[in-house]
Amino acid sequence: MDWRDSLRERNLPEVEPSFRHNLSFVGVSTIAKQFYCEAKVEQEYTRGQVPSEAKDVGTDIHEEILAMKHVGRKELIKHILKEPSLITSFPLYGEIGELRVIGMPDAVIFTKSKPEWLIELKTTRGDHTRLWNDQLLQVKIYGLLLEKMGFNCSKLKLVLVRMRQDGALEDEQRTKMLAMIRLALIKDQTAKLEETRPMKFFIHPHDRREVERSVLWAQDYWLQRREPIPTTNEYKCRTCEFKDVCPSSLWKGPETSSIANRGRSPTQGR
Ligand code: SF4
Repeated sequence: MDWRDSLRERNLPEVEPSFRHNLSFVGVSTIAKQFYCEAKVEQEYTRGQVPSEAKDVGTDIHEEILAMKHVGRKELIKHILKEPSLITSFPLYGEIGELRVIGMPDAVIFTKSKPEWLIELKTTRGDHTRLWNDQLLQVKIYGLLLEKMGFNCSKLKLVLVRMRQDGALEDEQRTKMLAMIRLALIKDQTAKLEETRPMKFFIHPHDRREVERSVLWAQDYWLQRREPIPTTNEYKCRTCEFKDVCPSSLWKGPETSSIANRGRSPTQGR
């Protein structure tokens, strides 16, 4: 498929909800969360705390797709074709295995009409130098969706930036940060930015096969071929808001620290 056609398409396909929890599409961030603890995804849906990206999928994703907040799709195509370098963000959609997947990365930087960097900025109150596999998987899935939309991803690099910060960034702060990150990438000065700010860059090449394997594992949960698999990491249970109600919780109170040995996702076990 030509990426211009992907951007021009007016609507997502009209499909009946066929996935677990009555979904027609699954959000990228939700798939990533399965690799933190799939039982937690189940708890969030059954107890009503649906992750925001997935909630969009179930409700107003069509609006989101059509909105393109700052420029229309025709304009976006023109900019991608004309600008030597462009930073933008738009919803990504594609089929991976038997799943229909949708999501929106923080930014994509195009150079000469090709996506060169895909950026996701994550804030944390904790250790910003630690790499979480589920966050990395999220950017990898975005990369795969870009490719499926027809973009030439031969030079694409996936950039996860973790930043220590109390509370969420305001929209304006986030925009400034992304502009700063873009400059650092273009000028090859990410190390310098890390010295002056509490930030850490994790940069990975795009690898289609690797990420497809992960999504194929995740899809069985959505297709109801298996029950959710809980984490094996007691620390995650100890800090989980569902630890007192989750039947799979490893947290049995401050005196207990035993960890059961149970099924794992390909990247669990941190
Ligand atoms: S308590 Fe543990 S197993 Fe249950 S949802 Fe939370 S992290 Fe997962």
